[in-house]
Amino acid sequence: MREFDYYRAGSVRDAAKKLAAAGNPMLLAGGMTLLPALKMRLNEPSALIDLAGIDELKGVRLGRKAARVGATTTHAEVSGNVELRAAIPALSQAAESIGDPQVRNRGTLGGSLANNDPAADYPAVALGLGATVITNKRKIAADEFFKGMFETALRSGELVTEVLFPLPQRAGYAKFPNPATRYALAGVCVAQFKSGARVAVTGAGTSVHRLKDFEEALNEDFSPGALEGLSVSAASMNDDMHASAEYRAHLVGVMARRAVRMALG
Ligand SMILES: Cc1cc2nc3c(=O)[nH]c(=O)nc-3n(C[C@H](O)[C@H](O)[C@H](O)COP(=O)(O)OP(=O)(O)OC[C@H]3O[C@@H](n4cnc5c(N)ncnc54)[C@H](O)[C@@H]3O)c2cc1C
Repeated sequence: MREFDYYRAGSVRDAAKKLAAAGNPMLLAGGMTLLPALKMRLNEPSALIDLAGIDELKGVRLGRKAARVGATTTHAEVSGNVELRAAIPALSQAAESIGDPQVRNRGTLGGSLANNDPAADYPAVALGLGATVITNKRKIAADEFFKGMFETALRSGELVTEVLFPLPQRAGYAKFPNPATRYALAGVCVAQFKSGARVAVTGAGTSVHRLKDFEEALNEDFSPGALEGLSVSAASMNDDMHASAEYRAHLVGVMARRAVRMALG
């Protein structure tokens, strides 16, 4: 690890100002990804701007049509929020499936979305629910936010402040975890809105993405049976020491049907 300055920001404005400074400053949330990356010298920032002391980035606010979750809200806080669980069970299901208790107590929603790991859970839920990512500068629809493996629409100087999740009629998240890391080998979020169904998959391909033919089938009939016979091509799946492309393609179908079952309760 190389030397860097450490700055504990007191407000979003303060953090943004530091982020715009010269050098290569980086934001620090729970450090669950960033600190190992620093140790391996994958990142060599000039300064770390710690978001942990910024009250306005924390917590859950539930409205009639949407839930707002602050960027530094931890996975444990999301999964432990009873009102949020009643309103959007899929979000709680994703949060409680992440890693282990240590990771859930430190890792944050904003850090997970900004990192956009191809096997992370929150990107699938954010995309599946059609969330809006709110930054210090603008609002970004989830459909525009996830650009590819570890790549997002965030620009330099921009930090995620909160995420707006519209309340679905119903939604579920099912994941087949890697037994060692708990990251998703395949995770699928399905959601039903008045405007139609949304289906997003993580873990299986190079980045989180939607499954349009699954959505069309669920628009006809929101039931696991509607997805029978639908498949994804193994050609678009990851193939590595953890699972073959064919196995992941199979898992996507199984997880999608399971997520619908969960959504139906
Ligand atoms: C052992 C282990 C197991 C895990 N298992 C899972 C799993 O099963 N599923 C899963 O989804 N994830 C898993 N994770 C990841 C974890 O959930 C964290 O959410 C993720 O690592 C991000 O960590 P963090 O929130 O602490 O952010 P940091 O590590 O602090 O930051 C990550 C990146 O996001 C940037 N960043 C942080 N906050 C913001 C913000 N508000 N705005 C803009 N940029 C920001 C940072 O600059 C950095 O580049 C695991 C991690 C570990 C270590």
